[in-house]
Amino acid sequence: MNSYQADEKGYYGDFGGAYIPEMLYPNVEELRSQYLNIMSEPSFQEEFNQLLKDYVGRPTPLYHAKRLSEKYNTKVYLKREDLCHTGAHKVNNTIGQILMAKRLGKHRIIAETGAGQHGVATATVCALMGIECIVYMGAIDIKRQAPNVARMKMLGAEVRPAMSGSRTLKDATNEAIRDWINNPVDTHYIIGSAIGPHPYPDMVSRFQSVISEEIKTQLLEKEGKALPDYVVACIGGGSNAAGTYYHFLDEPSVGIIAVEAAGKGVHSGESAATSQLGKEGIIHGCKTLLMQTPDGQITEPYSISAGLDYPGVGPLHAHLYRSGRGEFYSVTDDAAMTAGLELSQLEGIIPAIESSHALAVFHEKQFKPDDIVVLNLSGRGDKDLNTYIEYFKL
Ligand SMILES: *Cc1c(COP(=O)(O)O)cnc(C)c1O
Repeated sequence: MNSYQADEKGYYGDFGGAYIPEMLYPNVEELRSQYLNIMSEPSFQEEFNQLLKDYVGRPTPLYHAKRLSEKYNTKVYLKREDLCHTGAHKVNNTIGQILMAKRLGKHRIIAETGAGQHGVATATVCALMGIECIVYMGAIDIKRQAPNVARMKMLGAEVRPAMSGSRTLKDATNEAIRDWINNPVDTHYIIGSAIGPHPYPDMVSRFQSVISEEIKTQLLEKEGKALPDYVVACIGGGSNAAGTYYHFLDEPSVGIIAVEAAGKGVHSGESAATSQLGKEGIIHGCKTLLMQTPDGQITEPYSISAGLDYPGVGPLHAHLYRSGRGEFYSVTDDAAMTAGLELSQLEGIIPAIESSHALAVFHEKQFKPDDIVVLNLSGRGDKDLNTYIEYFKL
C-alpha cells in the first residue's frame, strides 16, 4: 500500500531526497524529525481544520459543470479552489506551515516568491498570526508583479529584492536559503509548492491533500461513489496537483492526469514542460526532473502563466511521469487562453491562467460520456485580468 507516498528518506521512486548544504542540515533535520508527530497531534489537527473552515472557507464546492460537460460529452466536476480566501489553493499550505512553525517555536517567517502568489499567501497567514514575515523576490519580478508586492506590503510583510543573477525566482530562492542558514534557531522557511528537500514535498502534499479528501466525500454524496474515473490538475511545482491526487494515488481505477505549460510549444525553447523536457538533476534540494542545458545549467522556463514557469517539477510528479502512473500533457499558451475564455463563457467562472492549462485537457483527450472527470480549478482569474485583456484585446 501507499506505493506512491514518499518513503522515510523522502524518495518517490528515484526522485526526492534532501540534497542540502551542510549548514542547512540542522534546520531541515529539525523539521524532518518532527513534522509527522506535530501534524498528528489532535490540537494541531483541530486548529488546522478550524482555520481551513472559518478562514479559508472550506470545504470548497465540487461543482458539476453542466455546459462544459455537454460540450465535451463527458461528466465534469470542478473542484473550486478558486473560492479559497486569497483566490487559490496556496493558502492551505501556508496555514499548515505557519501552525507547524509556531509549534517548532519559530517566530520569524521567510519565503521566496516569483509571481508573488506564494508571497501573498505567506504574508496573509503571518498577518493572521502576528508573525514577522520576510519575502525574497527577484528585483525584476518586483517590477513585473507590482500589485502582489503592494498586497504583501499592505499585509505587513517586508519584501526584500534579490539583486544577483537573473534577479528572478531562483535568485530569490538562493537569498531565502542564505537567510535560513544565518537564522537557524528562530526562523521557518515556508516553501510554496511540493518541492524542496525532504520533508517539504511530503509535508506540502499532506497539507494540500484536503482537496482530494473533500472530493471523495463530495463525490460520494453526488454520485454514490467516492472514486472518479479521472482527476486532472495543472502542474507548476506540483502542490495543487499533489493535493488533488493524494487520496487517489493508490487507487488504480482512478486515472491521474497532469497538465504542464508548453508555452510557445514544447520544442520552441520557450516552455515549462518540465516532465517531457527535463532530465534528472538536483534543484532546490531534491532530485527530480528539471530543464537544463547539456552541462547541467538550469534553463530559464517560460509560460504565459507566472505560476507555471518553474524549471523543475516536484519529485512525486517526476515519479508519476517516469512510472507511467500519471498521464502527462503539455498545452501551449494559446490553448490555455482559449480554454480560459471558454470556461468563462460556458460556466461564468473566470479561471486563473494556471487552471486554464488544466482545462485545455479537453482539447487533448476525448473522455467517455459516462466518465466522471474531476478537474481542480486551482485559482481565480482576477490576478490575470491584464494578461487576458492584452491577449484577447478586450
Ligand atoms: C501557484 C499556482 C499554481 C502552480 O503551483 P502548484 O504548486 O503547481 O500548484 C497553480 N494555480 C494557481 C492558481 C497558482 O496560484
